[in-house]
Amino acid sequence: STTACLLNGKALAEKIQGDLKELITILQPKIGRPPGLAVLMVGDDPASAVYVRNKERACAKLGMASFGHHFPGQTSQTELEKVIQELNQDPRVDGILVQLPLPPHLDSVALLHTIAPEKDADGLHPMNLGRLVRGESGLRSCTPAGVMRLLEEYQIEVAGKHAVVVGRSILVGKPLGLMLLKKNATVTIAHSRTQNLAEITRQADILIAAVGKPQFITGDMVKQGAVAIDVGINRIVKSDDNAILVGDLDFESVAPVADYITPVPGGIGPMTVAMLLYNTVLSYQDRQ
Ligand code: NDP
Repeated sequence: STTACLLNGKALAEKIQGDLKELITILQPKIGRPPGLAVLMVGDDPASAVYVRNKERACAKLGMASFGHHFPGQTSQTELEKVIQELNQDPRVDGILVQLPLPPHLDSVALLHTIAPEKDADGLHPMNLGRLVRGESGLRSCTPAGVMRLLEEYQIEVAGKHAVVVGRSILVGKPLGLMLLKKNATVTIAHSRTQNLAEITRQADILIAAVGKPQFITGDMVKQGAVAIDVGINRIVKSDDNAILVGDLDFESVAPVADYITPVPGGIGPMTVAMLLYNTVLSYQDRQ
């Protein structure tokens, strides 16, 4: 039996970052400073800490300035809003992102509203989401933008295809559905209340799993020859106490059925970081 072609997000992310680095080298003498990204993290969720570190490392590699702000878990809403307002005014800062999830006492939606839309590196401000709904240009949410960029790189036809997105979060599923629609896919968005899920996923030419459940989509739920995209990142502790990362797709059973598949890690994860840097450089370029 055959197995699917791997969609190498890690390699593409490196290529994108190399291109951005070159662009920065050209722009920096004109603008007189490097691009700057501010990452706000509250509390010490271990997964978030890893993501934040990766983002800061990637910034450094590109010659971007990163303004890390790590706040204790009990930091107040008012204090965070004040910091965001300062960053909005700070001419060295082109992108601002709040690492989610936040501790439960904080209102993340209100915080996202505080970010200046032109510095909204994560593309989650209602203004940028609204632009996406309208099909206007704007800063795009990084994970779904990363999925679209990866499909484009491998010249996977989207127009006219049936794309099934499993998951409807504002972070991934919903914006991704809109991006696929913009590219003329026929889009189905499934979620926890969907009936006969397997019947629907089996119709997908392009199947995207953004569920947050380890190995949730199995080979029997996938059409022969489909493109299978795995957004999920789940940390699983094995019997020997070692933790491994797995996606929302059951790679073992899906790979033999699909024509294309993303690995976890090395698929959408690195693409998300690359799109974050891309958004920041876009804002930087616009502010010259
Ligand atoms: P959320 O938990 O916000 O959303 C999960 C979605 O899956 C919800 O819409 C939920 O439905 C749906 N769902 C849950 N259970 C089922 C089920 N049994 N059948 C069908 N649908 C179901 O997660 P996110 O969208 O934020 O993230 C999804 C995954 O992607 C996670 O593993 C996360 O770690 C990962 N992720 C990866 C990123 C990356 O950089 N690669 C970035 C962001 C997230 P309902 O709305 O009805 O509750």
